[in-house]
Amino acid sequence: MIITTNTTEHCAQITVKSALHYHESEMPCHWDVNVYRGCGHGCKYCFAQYSHDYMQAGDFFGNIMVKTNVAQVLDKELSKRSWKKLRINLSGVTDPYQPAEADFMLMPGVLKVLIRHRNPVVLTTKSSLIFRDIELLRELASVTSVSIGSSITMMDENLRQLIEPGASPALERFRLLEACKQAGCRVNILLTPVLPLITDNMENLDEIYMRAAEIRVNGVSPWPLNLRGSTKERFMGFLSLHFPDLLPGYRQIFQGWRISKAYEEELRRKVLFLRDKYRIPEITLPQLEQANHYIQLDLF
Ligand code: SF4
Repeated sequence: MIITTNTTEHCAQITVKSALHYHESEMPCHWDVNVYRGCGHGCKYCFAQYSHDYMQAGDFFGNIMVKTNVAQVLDKELSKRSWKKLRINLSGVTDPYQPAEADFMLMPGVLKVLIRHRNPVVLTTKSSLIFRDIELLRELASVTSVSIGSSITMMDENLRQLIEPGASPALERFRLLEACKQAGCRVNILLTPVLPLITDNMENLDEIYMRAAEIRVNGVSPWPLNLRGSTKERFMGFLSLHFPDLLPGYRQIFQGWRISKAYEEELRRKVLFLRDKYRIPEITLPQLEQANHYIQLDLF
């Protein structure tokens, strides 16, 4: 069934046979549950669009597939004796609190299943809609490990509206992390993707680290823009429209889809300075594994 929600997307309700998906990754979390396919946040740098390309499912931002039975299927999967209560990532290729979630409300059901099974979880969101479920997250955090991340890369609200039109403003994302921390969750800022020549200036980065220190986040993970696959063509198209003057700089900074070593080194110098300035704890992979928590790996 196709439904047009209060938001601008077209949402197709589908049922799924499996909720959990395994993937090989260098991250310490190999199981994903994505309650939607597609994402209405519409970030211009989104690298998850490949998942729709792969399935020929049309516009990643405008055609959203809603997995109406995901909570029930997940419940069955977590009930199997073979399931070892491994951490589950709820935001592998989509944001679970994207605009459609306001209408379809899949996440409360999923969180109740996770509470029942005391299953550790990580999720990343750019939406303050997560406030709606804060009591469920508190309950989940009281029985298992819950790690909430928010990608915050730009403090300028005009820029945010242009680049991440469907997501919440940066200040709301800091507030949601603060609320999740008070609810007993680990909270991380994913300073990713840092956009060369747009969001990599010291003033912007300094404010993000300062606010991160104020709410005492558990970590900040910086990562520069990645233009793998079709993201490159899409992002360069966006630049030609809104920042044509930056195109020569981008051609210098990117070799294919990879960022240059020189740029990486320059960004590394900035974030190490800010880490020291604001005493943001550096979290390494072994520490995370020991603590049985998850965070996106630091680049530096
Ligand atoms: S929130 Fe994530 S999945 Fe959604 S559009 Fe933005 S980058 Fe893509």
